[in-house]
Amino acid sequence: MALQGRGRYSPRGIGIRRALCHTWPKLMVILQQDLASMPQTRLTDRFGRTVNYVRLSVTDRCDFRCVYCMAEDMTFLPRQQVLTLEEIARLARNFVALGTEKIRLTGGEPLVRRDILELVREVGTYGLRDFAMTTNGSQLPTMAESLRKAGLQRLNISLDSLDADKFRAITRTGNLSQVLDGIDAARDAGFRGIKLNTVVMKGRNDEEIPELIEFARQKQVDISFIEEMPLGEISEHDRGLALCTSEEVRDIIRRHHELIPATEDSGGPARYFRMPDSEVRVGFISPHSHNFCSTCNRVRVTVEGRLLLCLGNEHSVDLRRVLRGHPVTDDKLQEAIIKAMDLKPERHHFSSNGDVQILRFMNMTGG
Ligand code: SAM
Ligand code: SF4
Repeated sequence: MALQGRGRYSPRGIGIRRALCHTWPKLMVILQQDLASMPQTRLTDRFGRTVNYVRLSVTDRCDFRCVYCMAEDMTFLPRQQVLTLEEIARLARNFVALGTEKIRLTGGEPLVRRDILELVREVGTYGLRDFAMTTNGSQLPTMAESLRKAGLQRLNISLDSLDADKFRAITRTGNLSQVLDGIDAARDAGFRGIKLNTVVMKGRNDEEIPELIEFARQKQVDISFIEEMPLGEISEHDRGLALCTSEEVRDIIRRHHELIPATEDSGGPARYFRMPDSEVRVGFISPHSHNFCSTCNRVRVTVEGRLLLCLGNEHSVDLRRVLRGHPVTDDKLQEAIIKAMDLKPERHHFSSNGDVQILRFMNMTGG
């Protein structure tokens, strides 16, 4: 499969101008001024929020079955309902044309999608300010280096426990040592912005918080603690009872380290803190205890091509229909994306009693 160069998006006129620039250097200066003064298209919703961050799910499949994310016995989507890699690249290109600066590839487990490196290579040419992936790390021992070479800039790696048995119990199928090797492989490959993601659950991994912090400090990687969200119906624990709020996690960490609020904007949902004696940042993603909706700059696209305007609401637009109905030109696709912004709700309404509020699981949502 060759994704590169295929149907590359070119806003009207710019392609011709660029071609001319190669042959007519004097004109180049004039045209550059012309391009610089062109207004950049922006995706803006009804509440004045600019959307410049897209999470693209590349598969609903996964080699793990984390208890908070999936049922043990999952049925995955049939192939014809899943976007092809070319369709995902086309979506990415059009989001970039509409002002997207940050793309995260996710899933399911993005590294189990066949030919994922082709997609990474293609999206890596779009000039993004930030190009990242969220992964469970199991495939990183063999893939980290290729991902880095393909142009991926940052990795978020999920790690819920440092105890092999607990890790297995949480992921149902995962092998801790493989993921630890994956983290080392990512560091060796030269990834700089590595971040660990830990979903904290009382009675499962809350007592491991200090060890996870020490691990992050030792490996010199950031770590974020996430409150479990009520996405999809699970049977292994009561989400209400297992909820460990970010405030509780911070209290535990403060017994060992001072936490100083970081001043820089993370550009994502996490609020960051620093420890006085380390470069490592500690983040908190708190959908329950600290609603981050007012600064939300994100949308998600599921692997079926459903544009989700909010993690905690069902508002969506079927972009697969537009992609497949208009295979040659992109104007209808861009129109659909721009119009969809009017559907972005002001906020989510997760409650902390553990009731399911959204029927789709996180692997379908694109975390
Ligand atoms: N498979 C990859 C991974 O695990 O990193 C990427 C997809 S996963 C759905 C993305 C992130 O969502 C992971 O960090 C995972 O821990 C988190 N997640 C999944 N289900 C969740 C839930 N119900 N509440 C909070 N976080 C969840
Ligand atoms: Fe797979 Fe990630 Fe969901 Fe775990 S959280 S089951 S690794 S998609």
